[in-house]
Amino acid sequence: MAISRETRKFEAETKQLLDLMIHSLYTNKEIFLRELISNASDALDKLRFSALTNPELMKAGEELEIRLEPDSDKRTLTIHDNGIGMGRKEVIDNIGSIARSGTQEQIERLRKKGGKESMPELIGRFGVGFYSAFMVAEKVELDTLKAGAKTAVHWESDAGGTYTISEGRKRSHGTSVTLHLKPVDRDGGIEDYTREWTLSSVVKRYSNFIGYPIRHKVRMEKPEADEKGIVKPDGKSTIVFEDKTLNSMKPIWTRPESEVENEEYNEFYKHIASDWKDPMLRLRFKAEGISEYESLLFIPAERPRDLHTWGAKYGLQLYARRVMVMDKCDAVLPEFLRFVRGVVDSSDLPLNISRQTLQENRHLARIQKFLTKKVLGMLSDLYREDQAKYLDFWKQFGIALKEGVGVGADEQDRIVPLLLFESSADSERLTTLKDYVSRMKDGQDTIYYITGESRSIVENSPLMEGFNRKGYEVLFLTDPIDEFVVDRLSVFEGKNLRSAGQGEVDLEGTEGEEGEKAKRKDQEQQFNDLFNLLGKLLEESVKQVRLSSRLTTSPACLTIDNDDMSPQMERMLRMADPDAPKQKRILEVNASHEVLRGLRARFEKDKADPALKSYAELLYGYALLAEGAEMKDPGSFNKALEGVMIRAVQETAPEA
Ligand code: ADP
Repeated sequence: MAISRETRKFEAETKQLLDLMIHSLYTNKEIFLRELISNASDALDKLRFSALTNPELMKAGEELEIRLEPDSDKRTLTIHDNGIGMGRKEVIDNIGSIARSGTQEQIERLRKKGGKESMPELIGRFGVGFYSAFMVAEKVELDTLKAGAKTAVHWESDAGGTYTISEGRKRSHGTSVTLHLKPVDRDGGIEDYTREWTLSSVVKRYSNFIGYPIRHKVRMEKPEADEKGIVKPDGKSTIVFEDKTLNSMKPIWTRPESEVENEEYNEFYKHIASDWKDPMLRLRFKAEGISEYESLLFIPAERPRDLHTWGAKYGLQLYARRVMVMDKCDAVLPEFLRFVRGVVDSSDLPLNISRQTLQENRHLARIQKFLTKKVLGMLSDLYREDQAKYLDFWKQFGIALKEGVGVGADEQDRIVPLLLFESSADSERLTTLKDYVSRMKDGQDTIYYITGESRSIVENSPLMEGFNRKGYEVLFLTDPIDEFVVDRLSVFEGKNLRSAGQGEVDLEGTEGEEGEKAKRKDQEQQFNDLFNLLGKLLEESVKQVRLSSRLTTSPACLTIDNDDMSPQMERMLRMADPDAPKQKRILEVNASHEVLRGLRARFEKDKADPALKSYAELLYGYALLAEGAEMKDPGSFNKALEGVMIRAVQETAPEA
């Protein structure tokens, strides 16, 4: 189908990004070449993968390559690839707009920060590598032909707010991007990108590892020679153009470790992970034995946006003897390590491995086991050697690591020592379970935790009162996944893990223990009838009202029995199944509290006092609010509160 010439407007956000790009004070402008080469390399990968199932997309014997074509007279630089190419719609979608929404605030933020340092972030965050061409070019043209298609597409723009799209003349698949270069401005970071030396050094710096040849034609003067190849002293010379490959193409993980610079690893990481930041950690190793493979792994500096996007693709690049056979291969990583980036290069894999045959491949399962062990081992070393850095890791990825508890016994044994928790023992430092156990009090045989939405909620929970008095440390679990972790873990070093709000706990003061016990017995007797009544009044919401040993200053709290499900777990379950049966909790009250003492006096005076119902509601509502839980019936709580307020103001109001 023919394509008619059309001028289209950039989206507002795209235009803003382009403006930032054009006026950028960022001096490291040469990275535009890295971005365009990276796109070309991706396009070559895509074609190679598509051709596995669709061989007619490539000509027999066709070599995939990236070609740089500088023209110093016209002051242009063209980057060619014979990759997958794009159709008209793809050009509009990929080149004319930014795929991500909600970018406005981010653009503002970056604009304020100033283009200088923020340029790599801008490029990385918005996936706008292509636009970086406008840092060095006044005008950019793109010619592309999608593999298997007939109609080529031409796109051009001077970034002035519009771009033009029309039918192109390209006859073979792939993409050519031509930059009409801005004048050389060394202070502004614009070199002469038509010079061989410049191109060669930029390619070496950023793109040396690219797996396809990055070539260009070099002008050579060939002196005239005789038949034997001996140069004639007075002969003329002829000009010839010869191909020169600028990158080593040698996979970085196959080069001796001592030869690879940090920077090279970082550039490689940025290319494979589409990240703009250097990685936080790196791990390189070789496995020999039943399976032979090499691996180079990275942990990003920041949590990727899609860490919790359901179904987001993850995995490592899979190579079979130096040839990439699959991008994002998840068979070599467990899901809880989905943030790990990198490559695995195996000598035991067939080149035609497909996603369908992956699962059956025994090597991959073995690789996954080994990689998991290696990564967890690295984290364990890090924890031992550099806790501050480990904490950085934990803040970004701890939440994913926790998912590994329960995956398998081996994994669990390795992950548990790496888990960090907030705790009542320290308001800032996180603790491991091991450290918790080392601080346990004499006579304490259980690891206690409390779950809730935030530290301030759990810290101030009435459930904490008895533990604080007794000096028992409590772990504060505020991630929804923590509930799952403690459920799976249940025992650590022979000590049970138990919620602070679960079952009956002996938290009585230690002094005069006998006296305490006797006092409790008395209270139980005195309050028995009142508790029965309160239980009846609240029977829709709670299954029992009982005396608490957890409370010192608050009047009431909610707890569960030993084998009940935690309220957080119940909430999660109900999200999945709204009809799941509702579980009632236990209202524990503090008989020494003034409110309870007053309530009992009222009850003894008139067992049918209608105000008792309001107080029951208030106690229950109080306990719910204390844990930050949603109130099922705020209306009746408020009614009860209103009644009590009216009585209180009337009693305390001065005479009119
Ligand atoms: P990113 O590469 O981060 O996605 P870019 O702005 O560099 O962002 O490119 C946007 C998209 O345009 C790419 O994801 C790809 O689909 C397409 N694209 C860019 N360059 C090429 C190319 N040389 N060949 C084929 N498609 C390309």
